[in-house]
Amino acid sequence: MHIGVLGGGQLSRMMALAGYPLGLQFTVLDPSPAVCASQVAEHVQADYTDQAALDDLAQRCDVITWDFENVPAESVAYLEAKCPVYPAREALALGQDRWHEKSLFRELNIATPKFAMVDTRPDLLAALDDIGLPAVLKTRRMGYDGKGQVVLRTQEDLEPAWQQLGGQALILEQFVSFDFECSVIGVRSRKGEVAFYPIARNRHHRGVLSISAVPARLPEALSQQAQAWLQELLERFDYVGVLTLELFVRGSELLVNEMAPRVHNSGHWSQNGAVTSQFENHLRAVAGLPLGSCDARGASIMLNWIGEMPKVQAFMSIPGLHWHDYGKSARPGRKVGHANLVADDLAQLRERAQALQPLVTAEQWLHIQECLGAEV
Ligand code: AMP
Repeated sequence: MHIGVLGGGQLSRMMALAGYPLGLQFTVLDPSPAVCASQVAEHVQADYTDQAALDDLAQRCDVITWDFENVPAESVAYLEAKCPVYPAREALALGQDRWHEKSLFRELNIATPKFAMVDTRPDLLAALDDIGLPAVLKTRRMGYDGKGQVVLRTQEDLEPAWQQLGGQALILEQFVSFDFECSVIGVRSRKGEVAFYPIARNRHHRGVLSISAVPARLPEALSQQAQAWLQELLERFDYVGVLTLELFVRGSELLVNEMAPRVHNSGHWSQNGAVTSQFENHLRAVAGLPLGSCDARGASIMLNWIGEMPKVQAFMSIPGLHWHDYGKSARPGRKVGHANLVADDLAQLRERAQALQPLVTAEQWLHIQECLGAEV
């Protein structure tokens, strides 16, 4: 079976790497001349709206999916007339606009931080009256990894934030002083089977994911709540594939930040720490195969490499450590790879993680300690 992927980044690359053992072949469509998936898949270099290129992709492929949430929904609609496309166009379109996404959550009684639509300066003032400070002003569209957002802590922050973001469709959100962040990843098959990965505890740095750890050490009632919300969304969209919900944990309260209708960085641990990785399960779903188990094979921590890859040598002597280099050139802020450290249980993971201390920055080490608990 031939799988087409809109987007040729690392998620697409890791999908292809997971799909070859299943006998799947891959073609990615991406406008960039050099995409890291092209080392392991055919690459059609064209704009996402290029109809001839979309025709070509549909002709070559049996099923099409995406690795990037800002693919135009109109292109997906165009492809749907020619070829099955999953996970679900409605989820893609809603996820592209923070206002529509959060409005759906509100409709489904899924708890979110307070939010309000902001198009004009008077809207911003009215929203601030309602929500109060601190707050976060975000662009409704094209925001990811903390891009297109400014935290407002005092009245003095308003003018610079408006100068930076005003003139676009915006949303103002209550700033949540969370205890920690986590995410729940679920997968739904074409037949409607649903399975959930254990919840990951996440640490972001300047809006970009730095660490994910499983188990999340989250109270059982909150895990159940997160899964129930995700299940509701999977059914609502008649979703096929992997869907992620990013959440804030504040005391005994859970608030949804956003959803990602694709495989997700906070699920990379599953490549080595779960019975079936998120990439394989996404492919099983879209290819019409039965799902694999999402169970963890112990405890795991994933460390993102941002900007450049560290030297692999020293890491290789750590038992249970797995290396994932995306084959990208170094660039500040760019996700270039990650490492997964896996152990039989949390106690052994904490022990193994000690070996990371001399190899990572002081900041990363703090994040590791935070995610694994004080005992590290
Ligand atoms: P986003 O692009 O919305 O996923 O935001 C990226 C990161 O910024 C999140 O994972 C949080 O660490 C932080 N963030 C976003 N929105 C809020 C908020 N309303 N309150 C506190 N932190 C936030």
